[in-house]
Amino acid sequence: MTEDMIPVHEQDPMPFDCCPENICFNECCRDLNQALTPYDILRLKRNLGISSQVFLKEYTSLHYGPGSGLPIVAFKPNPGTGHECPFVKANGCKVYADRPGSCRLYPLARAIARDRETGEIDEYFALIEEPHCKGFGKKTDLSVRQWMNGQDVALHNQHNDKLMELISLKNRILPGKLEGAQSDQFYLALYDQDAFRTQIFEKDLVKNFCLSPSFLESLKTNDEALLDFGIAWVKNMLFGIELTIKG
Ligand code: SF4
Ligand code: SF4
Repeated sequence: MTEDMIPVHEQDPMPFDCCPENICFNECCRDLNQALTPYDILRLKRNLGISSQVFLKEYTSLHYGPGSGLPIVAFKPNPGTGHECPFVKANGCKVYADRPGSCRLYPLARAIARDRETGEIDEYFALIEEPHCKGFGKKTDLSVRQWMNGQDVALHNQHNDKLMELISLKNRILPGKLEGAQSDQFYLALYDQDAFRTQIFEKDLVKNFCLSPSFLESLKTNDEALLDFGIAWVKNMLFGIELTIKG
């Protein structure tokens, strides 16, 4: 944690209030350097009614972690607008109902650790105080947990935790840099979700797996099921972990 990060517990008071009346309204949506998770992309492309291919091409940039070879997808830098988010409008966020998890949590940072004995996830929180954000010091009656519940971020956390688990598995099993084909598989299944779907149904990508017709049918329309399957497929392709399907 940096010195601008103040550790907090979930029952602590949340000394923060963000509202359109704050003079900094929308400042946090400018000068962005924001990575997007697979679930962020799922929600955003669905909100916009476009495919993942179109979303990724139009709104994101891609680079690979120099040590890990893992794809890192972020909002496309746009110096012409001072790197503002493509979805920020004068009256707020155009995709508010489906904004990314990091937008929901800001100015809270969340980290997790899985208990090795129980398998349960422990959460750790910190407040990030940045000079441009004037929401600090405002009195509310909310605890950190209650404030976070109001951001409706539980589904994002749940899906993003699966990504973190996959990355930590990769770091344990394949600690070096992913090879080109491995990075491509990771990107395809997790980020370019509609291309992954097309490859399943038009290119027989999963012909070597025994998947029930009803499960396959669900992948045609259920984006969340497709993303979960993508994670299981990557675990199989990269680490040889048997593909088990629930349901
Ligand atoms: S997605 Fe919405 S909340 Fe997030 S940075 Fe863009 S405009 Fe702001
Ligand atoms: S800068 Fe802080 S207070 Fe201002 S709009 Fe963004 S989150 Fe809210």
